[in-house]
Amino acid sequence: MANLKRKVVLVGTGMVGMSFAYAALNQSICDELVLIDLNEVRARGEAMDLNHGLAFSNSSMQIKYGEYSDCSDADIVVICAGVNQKEGETRLQLLQRNYKVFESIVPRVVSAGFEGIFLVATNPVDIMTRITYELSGFNASKVIGTGTTLDTARLRYLLGNYFEVDPRHMHAYVIGEHGDSEFVPWSQAMVSVKLVYDVIQSNMQRYKFEDLDKIADEVRTAAYQIIKAKGSTYYGIGMAICRIVRAIFHNENSVFTTSVRLRGEYGLRKEVFIGHPCIINSGGANRVLEMNMTNDEIDKFQKSYDILDKSFCSIEC
Ligand code: NAD
Repeated sequence: MANLKRKVVLVGTGMVGMSFAYAALNQSICDELVLIDLNEVRARGEAMDLNHGLAFSNSSMQIKYGEYSDCSDADIVVICAGVNQKEGETRLQLLQRNYKVFESIVPRVVSAGFEGIFLVATNPVDIMTRITYELSGFNASKVIGTGTTLDTARLRYLLGNYFEVDPRHMHAYVIGEHGDSEFVPWSQAMVSVKLVYDVIQSNMQRYKFEDLDKIADEVRTAAYQIIKAKGSTYYGIGMAICRIVRAIFHNENSVFTTSVRLRGEYGLRKEVFIGHPCIINSGGANRVLEMNMTNDEIDKFQKSYDILDKSFCSIEC
């Protein structure tokens, strides 16, 4: 860690950024939180609002709106800045616009002397993480995206309800692109100590294999459903960012399906960042945990990997 006080700079104080900030305050996740946004007035207002909640919290966090120079001694820079998809706009056009946004952020963070860990949530998150890696010149272990961390949480919640077991004891993962090509490698999924496949096989009156497809589909379409109902999603991802930040500060060696660069796992060697179980600690993305997936699952993963690579290569720099 760069300094004795745990310091986080948040770039992008919209719905996602502030959901993270609010969770961070409630969980007293750091000692200093600096808010930066293109819209300085908003960042200032958000800092005031959060500060007024301090009296009701157990935290003595220092919260202020700031500038890129504040990144010099930060431990973590969380990026939630970006633009949302306009009506009729393709994902690729959104990518092009968010690339420009990151061009105006990442070099300024680096020029300030930042030497900590980037944590990216802006969509399309896997490609924005790779862009952060390219623009920063940082070691890949110091650049993490939220990846499919939220999707994995959604999966565990639904599986917990289905099997009537606490979601925290569901060891199942959503991997690949945070998007349409993501999937669940069911061969690896466990209800505590039992394989999901075995649990279903041993109680076919109660459980059905087809239900797994429905659950995976519900996870994949969850964001669309929430956006339809309330405009955008933010609490879940805010909590997910907070959890990853905690794992970094506490040197936890916890496992999340963050967006990380693989190191030859499954024979994949490009600079692609993709959601996959990875050990996260104070050094960032410490170790990717290669799974013993079936050939069919590896094919799906490679397909998702190729989609991400193709999208990245389509960016006009
Ligand atoms: P929002 O519009 O509420 O906030 C975006 C903020 O970014 C705004 O305050 C805006 O002023 C700021 N911004 C734009 N350009 C900037 C720049 N150049 N420098 C600094 N700040 C800038 O959007 P939101 O709902 O908070 O979503 C933010 C991002 O998070 C989106 O890309 C969204 O798709 C993504 N998201 C990711 C996940 C995930 O699982 N990773 C989940 C939900 C949303």
